Amino acid sequence: MNVHTIQSIRDGLLRKEFSAVEVAREALAYAERENPKTNAYLLFSSERAMEAAERVDRKVASAEDPGPLAGVPVAVKDVILTKGVRSSCGSRMLQHYIPPYDATAVERIEAAGGMIVGKTNCDEFAMGSSNENSAFGPVRNPVAPDRVPGGSSGGSAAAVAQNTAVVALGSDTGGSIRQPASFCGVVGVTPTYGRVSRYGLVAFASSLDHIGPLARNVRDAAAVLEVMAGRDPLDSTSAEAPVPNYTGRLDGDVRGMKLGVPVEYTKHVTGETAELINQSIDKLRGLGCEVREISLPATDYAIATYYIICTAEASSNLARYDGVRYGFRSAASGTLSDMYRNTRGEGFGAEVKRRIMLGTYVLSHGYYDAYYLKAQKVRALITRDFTNAFQSVDAIVAPVSPFPAFRIGEKVNDPMEMYLSDIYTITGSLAGIPCMSVPCGATSEGLPVGLQILCNHFHEEKMFRLADAFERFR
Ligand code: GLN
Repeated sequence: MNVHTIQSIRDGLLRKEFSAVEVAREALAYAERENPKTNAYLLFSSERAMEAAERVDRKVASAEDPGPLAGVPVAVKDVILTKGVRSSCGSRMLQHYIPPYDATAVERIEAAGGMIVGKTNCDEFAMGSSNENSAFGPVRNPVAPDRVPGGSSGGSAAAVAQNTAVVALGSDTGGSIRQPASFCGVVGVTPTYGRVSRYGLVAFASSLDHIGPLARNVRDAAAVLEVMAGRDPLDSTSAEAPVPNYTGRLDGDVRGMKLGVPVEYTKHVTGETAELINQSIDKLRGLGCEVREISLPATDYAIATYYIICTAEASSNLARYDGVRYGFRSAASGTLSDMYRNTRGEGFGAEVKRRIMLGTYVLSHGYYDAYYLKAQKVRALITRDFTNAFQSVDAIVAPVSPFPAFRIGEKVNDPMEMYLSDIYTITGSLAGIPCMSVPCGATSEGLPVGLQILCNHFHEEKMFRLADAFERFR
């Protein structure tokens, strides 16, 4: 398929070189043909994509503005609801669940002319770092098929890397957009918490969940965020802050920008990943940025803090899957409590059960103060570290992950080792600040590595400018 950008599709449509219907047809055919290589999509929403394409073509024909995402094929992670199109969250529990409404993000993408081509595979309820926790099989990394694409938005990252979609939506709770973006060599953005409405995003850990874009370049990611961002009355935590014109400010000039490199983020990074990150920092210096070392002392507690808070919230959020209200119900149901037990026993996978149990434990009477409350206090310290740092720097640059994509099966039996994948992404999610991964090269084996950029709350514009300048001159 043609390697398109949002702009190249728009130009082609307006010059009548092709129609949106043609783009949709070609994208769907290509995605269906390529998908067996990666298992990135769980289903294709052909009808919906064609309807969106026809709407765009009608607008072009009548010389109306077809919208900023006109004719753009978009893949959507399966934890984001699509009306009338099955949304399974990678779980047996919702294997046949057809949502009665659209997520606000999806609605805004379509209103802007985007075409939803399919739903992408992910770790069950977005819990994981490798996409191996999906009830519908793992996703393969398009760059190295024996390796994981990262997770939990592994299908979305793979789809963009494989060119079966121009952009994709993912969700991030502790790194699930940035880490797969880094592993697959694409751009992935976690916006400020509240920047994009969570309405229609199936809840994992509500105080940490974000929707964000994945794309092949910074400009496209910025354009998608621009469309999705902004207050939504259907999500009380969505922010009122006005949405700047991100794409309009990408001028490549970052001279004088002050960047901080946290000492705590280089500790576990070795080998080629460390080299690529150091080279990237040198390039940023070459672009005129001032780089200094900073310290974020609470970082060491991030993984423990995250896995207490996210499991606590998950145990509460996932209580709704009881065999009565949504999706799966066990056939082996005698009494009501058997029905609950069997439904949850059969419907959830191992990682989800592990988290429900952990979360129930940390919230239980007697342990609440020792774990949950303590974790909330440490979360405040982690946020404070960032607030202090942003008094003297404009952005923080760091690795996304200590290692590149690992082999399928390599870490599945060691949850603690798997949790380490997110050691550098979890802090940004806990603080609710905008952060992203931008490709910064590949190892000698050809495995992509991402550079992470983090900025202060609602400073996405600055983050995009830096990432775009880096991308242009890399
Ligand atoms: N890998 C982390 C986890 O397993 C992050 C997941 C996410 O961001 N959704 O929880």
